[in-house]
Amino acid sequence: MDSQPNSPEARDKKFHMHAYTNARRHQEVGPLIIEKGDGIYVEDISGKRYIEAMSGLWSVGVGFSEKRLVDAATKQMAKLPYYHSFTHKGHSPLIDLAEKLVTMAPVPMSKAFFTNSGSEANDTAMKMIWFRSNALGQPERKKIISRKRAYHGVTIASASLTGLPNNHLSFDLPIANVLHTSSPHHWREALPGETEQQFSTRLADDLEKLILAEGPETIAAMFGEPVMGAGGVVVPPAGYWEKIQVVLKKYDILLVADEVICGFGRTGNMFGSETYAMQPDIMVMSKQISSSYLPISALMINDKVFEPIADESNRIGTFGHGFTAGGHPVAAAVALENLKIIEERNLVANAREVGAHMQKRLAKIAAHDLVGEVRGVALIGAMELVADKATKAPWGSAGALGGLVNGLLQQNGIISRNMGDALAFCPPLIINDKQVDDIFDAVERSLDEAA
Ligand code: PLP
Repeated sequence: MDSQPNSPEARDKKFHMHAYTNARRHQEVGPLIIEKGDGIYVEDISGKRYIEAMSGLWSVGVGFSEKRLVDAATKQMAKLPYYHSFTHKGHSPLIDLAEKLVTMAPVPMSKAFFTNSGSEANDTAMKMIWFRSNALGQPERKKIISRKRAYHGVTIASASLTGLPNNHLSFDLPIANVLHTSSPHHWREALPGETEQQFSTRLADDLEKLILAEGPETIAAMFGEPVMGAGGVVVPPAGYWEKIQVVLKKYDILLVADEVICGFGRTGNMFGSETYAMQPDIMVMSKQISSSYLPISALMINDKVFEPIADESNRIGTFGHGFTAGGHPVAAAVALENLKIIEERNLVANAREVGAHMQKRLAKIAAHDLVGEVRGVALIGAMELVADKATKAPWGSAGALGGLVNGLLQQNGIISRNMGDALAFCPPLIINDKQVDDIFDAVERSLDEAA
């Protein structure tokens, strides 16, 4: 098929530059073209069916065929296909969604602001934080702390917050004002014999040292995903967020919880901040807010953030920030309906219950010779592959084994995602125990084929 000049594969190679892809290698590998979706399954152009064990990009919570979302979009599209929220204007779906989010927030929040992607939302959070520092008469308070292995997006600011080499190399990033503290990856980075609590204490000390070295009066905020996703599904070690927040409070540093993956049920509570007792000043949400049927993202900010921003906007005359499509009415209507479905169908409880089964199946594969560590919470998890369990050494070059097993899984009908040698599992929230077994039976088979 590929050899036919007008095949979709050939035209893809000819005309399409893919995101997150080795552009030269793509000419050899070619595309996997997904044509249809049904529940937790997707089907490619040749009719082969896969379990989408990554929910697309950690995002299609309600599965790939939710008619209520199609109907919500159609209805809103017919009624008001576009409007915006610049200069005092607005529309009902966005007011409803703002109210819904603020009501759902696990800690007191004051206002919601709308953007189109996780990156834009994090970028916006950074601008709000800088604007606030100026409003407070603290223009020197502009540095932002993020973490190694963090993922916050790919715009210039959010890619700078991201703590992964591939998002910095050859892009001349990170920008100034963004600092990266240690990552909470216990299995990779703890000292020999160090318990999770001891490791968390050391990381909180690292954070405090960084703050003191830079000058506490120059640090505005720290960003963190409750559970790191694209950095390899790094679950915080015991005591981590508690100890980090003690340091942040001591120096009056804002906490931004990036809930782009964790939000709306993934970790077994509505928000990851609940699972890990985080008390953020800003929450950033996207992906599962609309199950990614349409692009929309949001920030929630508390009074500590909103009030100075309101004062400064009054002084200048405006808060000069916003996107043409930010809070698009059709996307907002879809998000509202999606949140209704998550609540009505108890998908958060499902994430907890079926997630417990998924964690059991993950734990079982930890015994496999190629598996160095498994980790996760509720319906998000990963296995990290190694050539040698004792030394944790990779198999050939780093990422080679992850890529191989990911390819075998795809042949065996499962779409996963390898981040180096860590393979992630983040299936739709509607999944059941039997379907989890289908995924992990195929994982066991694929590991045996690779061994
Ligand atoms: N924040 C987190 C935690 C993410 O996982 C992602 C994307 O995977 C982003 C931000 C960026 O979102 P987007 O790709 O919509 O810009």
